[in-house]
Amino acid sequence: MDIENKEIIIAIDGYSSTGKSSFAKLIASRWGFLYLDSGALYRAVTLFALDNGLIEGENIDEARLSQALASLDVHFENHDGQTLTYMGSICVEKEIRTMRVSSMVSPIATLGFVRNFVNDRLHQLAVGSRVVMDGRDIGTTVFPQADVKIFMEADPKVRAERRMKELVEKGEKVCLSEILNNLSERDRIDSSRAISPLRKAEDALVLNNTYMTFEQQMDWLQAVLQERFGR
Ligand code: C5P
Repeated sequence: MDIENKEIIIAIDGYSSTGKSSFAKLIASRWGFLYLDSGALYRAVTLFALDNGLIEGENIDEARLSQALASLDVHFENHDGQTLTYMGSICVEKEIRTMRVSSMVSPIATLGFVRNFVNDRLHQLAVGSRVVMDGRDIGTTVFPQADVKIFMEADPKVRAERRMKELVEKGEKVCLSEILNNLSERDRIDSSRAISPLRKAEDALVLNNTYMTFEQQMDWLQAVLQERFGR
């Protein structure tokens, strides 16, 4: 397919653990797109807040976090074909995926100044590239002009099982019910927040991948791209 030299922005949104990042990574590696994981930036901000004592119980010290964010250097580095999240010179890829961070990330992501911080970074990083970006508000807010918008869905139990497998592989001890609760709580907060709630953009295509393999999802997208950008 002749999409190699086209400036295309693909926006992938959807509920937690619907396989957005796995799909986006595959698109990036197969077709040479820059992959930007917006959730990783929200997770990095959350880790930063936790490690700096800016979250106590459920309370977030918004004033101090808002000031401290100015000094937060969060970026992505590519190592051996993998996109990893860094804070300064430290790779935080593993830590940002722990349940400690997952349980506070959605409250952090409701804050307007955090969303502005993340959106500014995403816009800076995307300049001049063919980009595939995943998150909750990419097609609605971050890149409303994206060429292709995809909204991903999957059965909640399948989503929790996939997430459990990922965490167990990373050595974390978690149970399925804890993960199911975390996913549904994050979906609830993400869909109901005042600023940039999780929504399907009107012009987004729905991809329900409950019973789909990665290759089937790629075939589906290839057909979409072929129709829109084919010779
Ligand atoms: O994609 P991931 O599950 O890693 O995202 C973690 C959290 O970051 C989400 O549950 C959501 O609260 C927040 N997020 C967001 N907007 C985005 C991406 C992520 O609010 N564009």
